[in-house]
Amino acid sequence: MADATSEAGCMFCRIARGELGTPFVAESEHAVAFRDLSPQAPTHVLVVPRKHIAALRAVGEDDAPIVAGVMALAVEVARREGLLDGGGYRVVTNDGADAGQTVFHLHVHVLGGHQLAAMG
Ligand code: 5GP
Ligand code: ZN
Repeated sequence: MADATSEAGCMFCRIARGELGTPFVAESEHAVAFRDLSPQAPTHVLVVPRKHIAALRAVGEDDAPIVAGVMALAVEVARREGLLDGGGYRVVTNDGADAGQTVFHLHVHVLGGHQLAAMG
């Protein structure tokens, strides 16, 4: 069924395929990076695997190169945004309701550009 939680109706799959014309901050074999619609920091970029994976809990053993690719692209985004030589950055993924996951296609948030709130 093509609802928002299935691959068929998945907005991030469509963005990753370039169907919505979303500008990419960076891209690689396994992942694409684009700015969050509702930024929570001066840099707020989402890094999304090209493959549809619903969340971190759905990552399989064969997906290891994809997860490595997502993390490598997150670092590349931080580099391009000037965060490696600046104040640093945070990489976060939300998995499930308590974490506030709203899009059910694995993504990491790359946040930086100001002092981030302490966690915990
Ligand atoms: P989650 O809470 O699932 O980790 O975060 C999903 C994020 O995706 C939110 O920060 C939200 O602002 C962002 N988002 C949702 N839909 C779109 C979209 O169509 N385009 C972009 N660029 N960001 C989106
Ligand atoms: Zn998807």
